[in-house]
Amino acid sequence: MGKHSMDVKTGSQESLKHETATPIKSQSQAVEESSRTLSPSSSARTTDKGIDGNGGTPAIAPTTRSSWSIEDSEELYRINGWGEPYFSINAAGHVTVSPQGDRGGSLDLFELVNALKSRNLNLPLLIRFSDILEDRIERLNAAFAKAIARYNYEGVYRGVFPVKCNQQRHLVEALVKFGKPYQFGLEAGSKPELMIALATLQTPGALLICNGYKDREYIEMAILAQQLGKIAIIVLEQIEEVPLVIEAGQRLGIRPIVGVRAKLSSKGIGRWGTSAGDRAKFGLTIPEILQTVDLLREAGMLDCLQLLHYHIGSQISAISVVKDAIREASQIYVDLAELGAGMRYLDVGGGLGVDYDGSRTNFYASKNYNIQNYANDIVAEVKEACAERKLPVPTLISESGRAIASHQSVLVFNVLGTSDVPTGTPEPVKDDEHLIIRNLWETYASITEDNYQEAYHDATQFKEEAVSLFNFGYVSLPERARAERLYWACCEKILTIVRQQEYVPDDLEDLEKIMASIYYINLSVFQSAPDSWAIDQLFPIMPIHRLDEEPTKRGTLADLTCDSDGKIDQFIDLRDVKSVLELHPLKPDEPYYLGMFLSGAYQEIMGNLHNLFGDTNAVHITLTPKGYQIDHVVKGDTMTEVLGYVQYDSEDLVESIRQQTEAALQDKRISLQDSQLLLQNYERSLSRYTYLSS
Ligand SMILES: *Cc1c(COP(=O)(O)O)cnc(C)c1O
Repeated sequence: MGKHSMDVKTGSQESLKHETATPIKSQSQAVEESSRTLSPSSSARTTDKGIDGNGGTPAIAPTTRSSWSIEDSEELYRINGWGEPYFSINAAGHVTVSPQGDRGGSLDLFELVNALKSRNLNLPLLIRFSDILEDRIERLNAAFAKAIARYNYEGVYRGVFPVKCNQQRHLVEALVKFGKPYQFGLEAGSKPELMIALATLQTPGALLICNGYKDREYIEMAILAQQLGKIAIIVLEQIEEVPLVIEAGQRLGIRPIVGVRAKLSSKGIGRWGTSAGDRAKFGLTIPEILQTVDLLREAGMLDCLQLLHYHIGSQISAISVVKDAIREASQIYVDLAELGAGMRYLDVGGGLGVDYDGSRTNFYASKNYNIQNYANDIVAEVKEACAERKLPVPTLISESGRAIASHQSVLVFNVLGTSDVPTGTPEPVKDDEHLIIRNLWETYASITEDNYQEAYHDATQFKEEAVSLFNFGYVSLPERARAERLYWACCEKILTIVRQQEYVPDDLEDLEKIMASIYYINLSVFQSAPDSWAIDQLFPIMPIHRLDEEPTKRGTLADLTCDSDGKIDQFIDLRDVKSVLELHPLKPDEPYYLGMFLSGAYQEIMGNLHNLFGDTNAVHITLTPKGYQIDHVVKGDTMTEVLGYVQYDSEDLVESIRQQTEAALQDKRISLQDSQLLLQNYERSLSRYTYLSS
């Protein structure tokens, strides 16, 4: 590697010297000292992030080496950071999937995609690895089991999966099956989700947590479910629900199991930080909780109050936030027990984070703790609070959704084409060309390492002048084209120098973006990665093959929709985010596949039908001793289906086209052959996938 290259280690050390202002990715949270938080090996890596200052951002490492190895790809796409232990790269330069981590076999993702394509399952394709789901459930339960043993906690952990995170039937059914050994339950956040949970969860001893807004029917179903042998716990989120539950219990003659959702004053941070605090949308304030205690006591039902719940937001990046919340909740719990409530359960909600960028920091796309740290902090804190008051410890519940469901699905999509800015050496300018063109040429010819910043401003100014002159009729269309080409040539030359620098001056930061290629992808961001569009969430994205080849291009991704927001131009990086992704030049007649990883939580159900791109094809894959098997194929929407959502009847549509072609035939505006071709294409398309065929 050349002296200007930035690998993980030298990058962070060198850049520390340059740090002049508040880091974007703060390290303060990352290196918290506690036996319950980071292990030494992981804390060492937390300094990788948070390097930025007034001096600008670090340059993207120059990729000028002739030999490229899969290790270079590993480092570039950070696959070991976010992908461990499930995703890595094999000697052929393909992404591999090891659904059982290091305990089982692995699959070549590129070959799997080709095999699925030959079964007529076209891209974009969502591949769910059931074994990964199973592994996540095992890991979460193992972490709590370990923490419980370590702190001699005299209670158990009974996790539940929040159905809202991914309601797909095959997934929920698999989850219930894999969760059986751990009595893993479900959490419903709405009435329709309660319907799923009531029907699907039949594991003896597993909990069914009933959250969300409730009406009388909801409450009655939850209470009556007890008679089916289910432990359905009604969590009161609104003070108005208290009399409803009391009255329903009395009417049915069944004692409900009741919980209260507390509005903690401990707040999450980042994207979902507003889920807690006094003005949060859900939960009871402390005075309301005490009022609930009074109401239940008056009704002779205080023993029914058995659970305390809180949820301070999703993707909690800092372990300190987890700790603050559990400390506050533990105190509320012990006080409720002392007030005479029949307390038995403490439910810490969701929030367990996913390390999308693999940086192990408290950056919003990461987290500075692992599952074990999380479990340890919760177990230890609750144990301590109960020991102080000499109270029995509760059964611990977490409602981890993102941490369970994210890893299991991979979205694979193909690139349809690219658009590049023209590059290469421009033709020298002749003396009789327009002054503005001569100026641009002179700028181009004189760019050096010493003046590249100034040259960039000159080139930009001359280009803008050329456009103004064009608008007033002083520059012809060919002259304007010439000026633009010279401008790109300047940018290209300057960018080559910038990439050699350790730091990019702020005013040149956009250069990578200006010069980036656009990769057109066979995908709708609105359907398949809505959080990328709506809240700028980062997902790791990388090619799934050719990883033994140097990715010499930089690109942003543009989707199929005709919406300018239908793009991805923020990618995970070692520091902060990067605006372009390293990609390979397309080869003629060869497909180019990209994968979006860790996207199994929330994206599917929040995806929408913008431009009428429907659900993608989905397959469920399980590993077998001989390779793999396809458990389920869920075909994506057809045109007929998406058109039906907006009330078009495909038969009516065909009939309309038929009548129009018939009229055109009569008037001899179309030949019989052409009219048949049009009708055939129209009819056939209706039963087809909404995406482009590849
Ligand atoms: C969304 C939600 C969860 C899941 O949160 P994750 O961060 O995905 O684990 C859990 N509980 C409640 C009440 C929720 O609203």
